[in-house]
Amino acid sequence: MLQPAAIDGLEFARSAGVLKGRLGIESLPRLVQSGCSGLVLDFVLTGEINERGKPELGLEASGSVRLQCQRCLGEVEYPLRFEVQLELAASEAEILAADDDVDRVLAGRDMSVAALVEDELLLALPMVPKHEHCQAAAGTNEGSGPSAFQALAALKRLNK
Ligand SMILES: [Zn+2]
Repeated sequence: MLQPAAIDGLEFARSAGVLKGRLGIESLPRLVQSGCSGLVLDFVLTGEINERGKPELGLEASGSVRLQCQRCLGEVEYPLRFEVQLELAASEAEILAADDDVDRVLAGRDMSVAALVEDELLLALPMVPKHEHCQAAAGTNEGSGPSAFQALAALKRLNK
């Protein structure tokens, strides 16, 4: 896969960078940990200065992932499509201090593209994956509580 593995976030935003790529499951270790078996994801990452004058990354992605149905434990193919805007923050403190709805990530000179996409992907996955028309009897093994994917994503953000 010929694509830069990392970007300089601020430079990418200032120069209105555009990066298109495709990621497979082999680039996304946390997804493998979550039990996803197959994934193809096409993405476009763009940089811009937003209307608030802040550097920002835009990410649009689409593809599909194979998850385990939480009812029958069979495979379920889940279509993925998401689009997010991530404002680049200068420090961890700025992210913690903000009390608005803006999504932020810490700007870096060496931001892993795969990790960026994976963070958002984990948030986009369903809490309880299952077949739309599952063969298993309804009402068995109905999961609840926070999704493992979201827990992983939250963990990753804190570790940055
Ligand atoms: Zn099922």
